[in-house]
Amino acid sequence: MDADVVVVGAGAAGGVLALELARRGLRVTVLESGPRHDPAKRWDGVRRWLRHENPWERTPKTLDRYTVGGPQPYQLEGRRARGVGGSTLHWEGYALRLHASDFMLRSLHGVGDDWPIRYDDLEPYYAAAERSLGVAGTADDPWASPRSAPYPLPAFPFSHSDGLFSRACRTLGIGLHHLPQARNSVAYDGRPQCRACGTCFVCPTGAKATADLTHVAAAEATGNARVVTEATVKRLVTDDAGEVRAAVYAGPDGVERRAEARVFVLAGGAVENARLLLLSTSRRFPAGLANGSGLVGKCFMTHPSVTIQARVRDRVHPYRIGFSTAMTRQFAVGGDRGRRGAFLLEFLNAAGPTPEQIAVASGRWGADLREHVRAEFGRWMGIRIYAEELPERTNAVTLNPRVRDALGVPAPHIHHAIGAYERAALEEAREVMGRIMTALGALEVKPGPLSFAGHQMGTHRMGTDPRTSVVDPDQRAHEVPNLYLAGGGCFVTGSASPPTLTIVALAIRTAERIAARLAPPGRPSARAAGPGGTPAEPGAQRDATPA
Ligand SMILES: Cc1cc2nc3c(=O)[nH]c(=O)nc-3n(C[C@H](O)[C@H](O)[C@H](O)COP(=O)(O)OP(=O)(O)OC[C@H]3O[C@@H](n4cnc5c(N)ncnc54)[C@H](O)[C@@H]3O)c2cc1C
Ligand code: SF4
Repeated sequence: MDADVVVVGAGAAGGVLALELARRGLRVTVLESGPRHDPAKRWDGVRRWLRHENPWERTPKTLDRYTVGGPQPYQLEGRRARGVGGSTLHWEGYALRLHASDFMLRSLHGVGDDWPIRYDDLEPYYAAAERSLGVAGTADDPWASPRSAPYPLPAFPFSHSDGLFSRACRTLGIGLHHLPQARNSVAYDGRPQCRACGTCFVCPTGAKATADLTHVAAAEATGNARVVTEATVKRLVTDDAGEVRAAVYAGPDGVERRAEARVFVLAGGAVENARLLLLSTSRRFPAGLANGSGLVGKCFMTHPSVTIQARVRDRVHPYRIGFSTAMTRQFAVGGDRGRRGAFLLEFLNAAGPTPEQIAVASGRWGADLREHVRAEFGRWMGIRIYAEELPERTNAVTLNPRVRDALGVPAPHIHHAIGAYERAALEEAREVMGRIMTALGALEVKPGPLSFAGHQMGTHRMGTDPRTSVVDPDQRAHEVPNLYLAGGGCFVTGSASPPTLTIVALAIRTAERIAARLAPPGRPSARAAGPGGTPAEPGAQRDATPA
């Protein structure tokens, strides 16, 4: 045993846990299935992305095998990434807190469930998460819950089309505000200011927060954390007392190895965490580890999403910024959430066909083509919504023993359907988006198809009752005292907000609890360090310096 804690996965949750534990003097081994994606080679990834290839695809591709079922199948392709940094390598970087009411859906609206923690419990950890990722924003969201500290970085300015949307929304009584970003509006924490190059699914500069840059490197720099890459955990082994003794993992050579520790944290994402628990059967845990409730893998949630695009008379200068700068939370709070899900509106800065798409579709050549592209480009505006999905036991991650991955392990199978609650949200969202486009003077409106966000939640839900939940409020498995399950799998309900800031806040809190449990007398205690290891004064350790 050469580690106090083994963490499985080096993404958002795993990276944070590695840093927060290592910084407190605990020895951490991180087992990461993917490789290190060298930051100096991100331009190769940009080129691949521009060629419509998956920039984070790893070999063997068969390690990512999965199957889907249900009326609205949820595909994982492009919705997660393997490697140091995990899916944050690929994420868009929108860093929103949940609203206080999101934690109390059952009490306030009579649907879903309540979380066992409240917004106030998580608030200091949200502030720490924003400092550690470097979130740019301003407190202009009238529907946000109270904050104890300002955003660590100034907000990005609104775009030209945000101004047009703002005027149209005002006539309809809809309020538009900044969208908080985990990307540098000014240089921060050793990473540069965003260059607005617009290839954010692969950020070539490091301005977008990715866990490899924001957390894993700092964890390794403490000397207490070591990251083993290309190490895919196949199962956890328990002892007679029902505690985890080892994580069994294999590299590309297929040879099985064991990593032992006092405490284990699964941070492989909501799908892989559930899969690993279901794979880790034993006489004591015949239905899978920590699965006495039968809820491991159940209540899978994501965010249904639709986009609408409209052609307008004047040029709106799209594609100058690769990310969205404005949103509204007006329909995500209050309202009739007993009947329909919450939804967020994101006002897009990149909508309509690109010059390349206009050219290919035109069939023209030479000067005629040039003229055509000039005349057509930049006349489309777009809005995207994310809607809330209720936890349903029938939406589930299970094992598919007929399909195996590159290491011979059964692949995950995801069954997914949406119901009346989600459809009602989508219907109202389409109606709201249509009204905004009409107020903009749209000449032509193109509604997009239903899709689903790269957000996976709910598969090992949190609660105080072991019969109806898998982990406790500290993300510790009810039935396995030395096992913690970190990430979106712990979410009780999904809200309409992207999950990662909450995942990071919960991970900071869990690291604090693990450290308090493991740290011998004399080592710095969690409480002395404060949430996220940073003093209450925001930015005191990590300066934001104008570039
Ligand atoms: C295209 C896209 C856009 C997104 N945009 C946003 C956004 O704007 N805002 C937001 O909040 N969220 C966004 N997300 C979601 C966000 O990326 C995830 O919520 C977040 O990364 C989840 O963190 P995690 O640590 O739980 O999992 P991940 O970050 O996915 O990390 C899990 C890691 O565990 C490793 N792993 C898995 N299984 C094993 C195993 N058996 N053994 C060893 N290692 C393993 C994986 O290789 C991976 O590196 C987006 C996601 C995608 C794909
Ligand atoms: S726009 Fe900013 S965050 Fe996006 S890829 Fe470019 S530098 Fe990175």
